[in-house]
Amino acid sequence: MTSMSDPVQDDDFVIANILAKTKIIAMVGVSANWKRPSYFVMRYLLKQGYKVIPINPKAAGEEILGQLCYSNLDEIPIKVDMVDIFRNSEHCLPIVKEAIAIGVKYIWMQIGIQNEEAYNLAEDSGLSVIQNRCTKIEHSRLSGLLGLGGFYSGFISSHRAPVPQAPQPARNGGLFKTTNLDTLAVHAGTRPDGATGSRVSAIHQTTAFVFDDSDHAAGLYNLQEPGNIYGRLSNPTTASLEQRLAALDNAIGACCVASGHAAQLIALMPIMAPGRRIVASKKLYGGSITQFGTTFKNFGWDAEFIDVHDPAMVRNAVSDQSVYALFAESLANPDGNVCDIATLANIAHEFGIPLIIDNTMATPILCQPGKFGADIVIYSTTKFLSGHGNAVGGAVVDTGNFDWLSGKDYPALATPDPAYHDITFAETFGNLGYITYCHASALRDLGPTLSPQNAYLTLMGLETLPLRMEKHMSNAEKVANFLKSHKKVKEVSWAGVPTSPYHLLAKKYFNFGFGSVFTFTLKGNYQEAKDMVNRCNLFSHLANVGDTRSLIVHPASTTHRQLTEAQRKQASIEDAMLRVSIGIENPDDLIADLEAAL
Ligand code: PLP
Repeated sequence: MTSMSDPVQDDDFVIANILAKTKIIAMVGVSANWKRPSYFVMRYLLKQGYKVIPINPKAAGEEILGQLCYSNLDEIPIKVDMVDIFRNSEHCLPIVKEAIAIGVKYIWMQIGIQNEEAYNLAEDSGLSVIQNRCTKIEHSRLSGLLGLGGFYSGFISSHRAPVPQAPQPARNGGLFKTTNLDTLAVHAGTRPDGATGSRVSAIHQTTAFVFDDSDHAAGLYNLQEPGNIYGRLSNPTTASLEQRLAALDNAIGACCVASGHAAQLIALMPIMAPGRRIVASKKLYGGSITQFGTTFKNFGWDAEFIDVHDPAMVRNAVSDQSVYALFAESLANPDGNVCDIATLANIAHEFGIPLIIDNTMATPILCQPGKFGADIVIYSTTKFLSGHGNAVGGAVVDTGNFDWLSGKDYPALATPDPAYHDITFAETFGNLGYITYCHASALRDLGPTLSPQNAYLTLMGLETLPLRMEKHMSNAEKVANFLKSHKKVKEVSWAGVPTSPYHLLAKKYFNFGFGSVFTFTLKGNYQEAKDMVNRCNLFSHLANVGDTRSLIVHPASTTHRQLTEAQRKQASIEDAMLRVSIGIENPDDLIADLEAAL
């Protein structure tokens, strides 16, 4: 029940092997300008212990980063293992011919560089070839040198991380690969500590991180080196959580923040600017409607709320030039409606904008939105993910699928950033550009950082998420069926009801279950609904969902109180409606409590 179809990047083992066996790299097209990505990469690789020989006719005879630069590969006086190419695709063929002539073993073409003729020639000559990837990103990803926070390496392990870290060369090099969610929920992001052997991850309760020396500090601040600087931007415990969440969504990285609302803010920061709008489902969680529709207006951002189940309406809304993102909940809070992720993704992509899915209610155990085309997945980890009602938090998870350079204009990612010496995030960090920006700019400047303690509690909660979701779902089914047949209940809004308009969508998008947060409406009025809440003795009366404990609340007088009557109507919140979040207690007890209260 908890496996995904085909998320494994099988060439990870090939790449790890190449990086482990390479000692000497000739870097063709490296720039002497310290602001260029090629300079970053060379600096990083030197620091990791590789010998790197720069090849650039314009700098021939001079030194780049202390290494003598040559015009051509055939001038290099020593044997080279790999040629790493920073030239446009059309220039690759002669470089590969020269590389074959000097007997290299590996050809590496950086992000955006692909040349089939050169690729085939190299392969036919017995060389291994990597195209369209960055040596620095792959090395840091596979060695666990994770930059600012959580990029998921694709590997888990029950062995200590080596110190110093390096890519592991082979299947028996201590690493394990899986896509099974129940295994990833326990292992991803938390291999035993290299220094101490501690099996469970530490709470890194620290504000800042020491620099090795002044050069190291400068490299970190320039984003040229991976590593932690200051706790507002990143923390190792939080990075473990980020990796685990990315793994569960088959994504490339995540940025964990102080709450679900902070996740929405940080997710939109790289996308929005004054005058820009998002199109969002009109049935979002009430707090999100207030955040988007009222508070974000202070930034000059606007939102249009529509019925996302009407594709013509969605297409019409996102076709507007000022719209830069489409936003919906996979399973909506509170009425349990399920959105058609694939249709929304297709429409968003037709107009060059990303689809952002709030997957809080479904969790990655029921649904991985990225599998159906969503680009960014966000969570209030406060709910099911931490799961025990004891840690507020949020996460932005990046599938890495959206191309920020060729979509609509996203200047924060696709143009030089003056706050970081003119690097272009989507160019320098490839598909890690968005999530790097979330840490390096959005979190740095807005500051809604997750505490390491809450990251730890959320990591612990995640270990049992697959088990809890099974129990939440089976309990929800029993309680919903009880309510459905009760004479005082007018309606139960749960996607498990076969006549629900969302039943088939849930079957299509969810691995199992129909959600455990839903509403039911009494054959009564506002006051009678409030009175029923007061009569519950096992259900807790509070404004949260996704707890191990069962919860009940009257939305019209609490969670949706700030909405206007028109907005409440739009969100289908009725006066006599109650919301329940079904926990993991014995279902007979839950039914007994509701029966007595009814
Ligand atoms: N998204 C959904 C679907 C929610 O239910 C909530 C909170 O209830 C949020 C976002 C906001 O999360 P937080 O309370 O962690 O800020």
